[in-house]
Formats: sequence, structure tokens, C-alpha cells
Amino acid sequence: MSASSFSSPSPTALAQDGQAWLRDLPERPVTAAAVLALAEQSFGAGCALATSFGPEDVVLLHLAKEHAPSLTVFTLDTGRLPPETYEVMEELRQALGLTIATYAPERAAVEALVTEQGFFSFRHSIEARKACCQIRKVEPLRRALAGKRAWVTGLRREQSVTRTELASVEWDAGNGLIKFSPLASWSRADVWAHLREHRLPYNRLHDVGYASIGCAPCTRAIRPYEDERAGRWWWESPEHRECGLHQK
Ligand code: SF4
Repeated sequence: MSASSFSSPSPTALAQDGQAWLRDLPERPVTAAAVLALAEQSFGAGCALATSFGPEDVVLLHLAKEHAPSLTVFTLDTGRLPPETYEVMEELRQALGLTIATYAPERAAVEALVTEQGFFSFRHSIEARKACCQIRKVEPLRRALAGKRAWVTGLRREQSVTRTELASVEWDAGNGLIKFSPLASWSRADVWAHLREHRLPYNRLHDVGYASIGCAPCTRAIRPYEDERAGRWWWESPEHRECGLHQK
């Protein structure tokens, strides 16, 4: 057998395989448990569960414990997260007995960014903000997803204008993977009802008006009438409020 017989499939081969799998899927599962079970049965550890420890992610981690225990759990530590996020990470790691693969940005890229553009470059323009997200989130995500065939996210359709067409299982062209979103049809109230019913830990910033929580300098509390993502990059218009992790 030649050496090449043992090499990993190329990203193109994985993408073709994933698109064929999706085409042949007889029906799309509806419930969160069924979506997770499909990810487990189809891909196991070849499917990555992304968590930033928001309420949706806590629900997913809790459900995955039962319905998809083989998935690879990972998080992106951007280096700018609020202390409350690290607190809930650790609480969940211990409470659910999780192994969380943690990806940090490339040191040289962060050093160059901060040296050349300062500590708040992301406030200068949308391009500068996306450049920071690219270094601290998108590039580490690429590494986290390398060699994977699918990933699971906690996205919901009602979170923002950028997510209204989200499906529970779909092709993620930006990352070249199948994307499972088990909570696509859940409301914010559904998520919180699950957290309360199962007495799960959550980020304490939610008690003081924060809805969606990312990096500390790019997140603030929202007012009651604002949409859930209004506290993220609030100085930008709503259609720009994504970090590049969830491209259409
Ligand atoms: S959310 Fe803000 S601090 Fe975090 S990576 Fe993006 S621009 Fe940088």
C-alpha cells in the first residue's frame, strides 16, 4: 500500500463528501435532541461542538452529554473575554466533566496587531474590527475545525437579522463543513426555561442586562426593546454584526 493511502482526505474531498451526505439525507431532524443524535451517529468525534458558554451553548453541552457524547467540544479564547465568561467555563467544565479543547490566537499575529494598531483598533472601522476578529476568532476557528466533517453551533433564527434563514442542518460554505444548529427554532424563553429547569450554570453578566456575550470591549448590556445582538459591536449597523465565524 502506498504512503498516500494513509494521508487524511483533502479539504476538497471532505467538502464533496459532506455535500453528498447532506443531499442524501432523507429528512431534516426537528428537535434539538434529534439533531444532536444525527451528528453523533453520523460523525462522532469528527463533529466539533463550538462553545462560547452563552446560554444556548450551555443548553447544547447539557443535551450533548446525553445525545452526542462523542463530539469534540472546543472553545476560542480570544484573550479579550470578560472574567465572568472564564468563571462559567470552569464551572461547566467541572459540573459536566468536560474536556474543552481551547484555541488561542497566534501569538505573533496578536503582538503585531497590538503593536501596530493599539489596544482598541477594532473601534476605528468595520475593516479594523474584522481584522481583529480574523486574528482572535476566525483563524483559531480554522484550526479547531481542521480535519472535521461537521460542527454544531448554538445559533437561533430569532437572534438577529443575519440569522433568519438558519436551518437545523445545512451546508456551511464558509467553513466547508456541515453545520448543525439544534436550537435553530428555539426562542430565548425556551433556552432560559431549559437552564432553569436543569439548574445549569450561566454567565453572571446575563443578570445585569447582557444578552449575547463576546469579547469584553465589544459587548455591552442591552435595553429591553433592543434585539439580542444589539449589545455586540453596537457602533456598527446590524447587518455587519457577525465576526466571520458564521458566514452565509
Ligand atoms: S469581538 Fe472585538 S476584541 Fe474580540 S476579536 Fe472581535 S474585534 Fe477583537
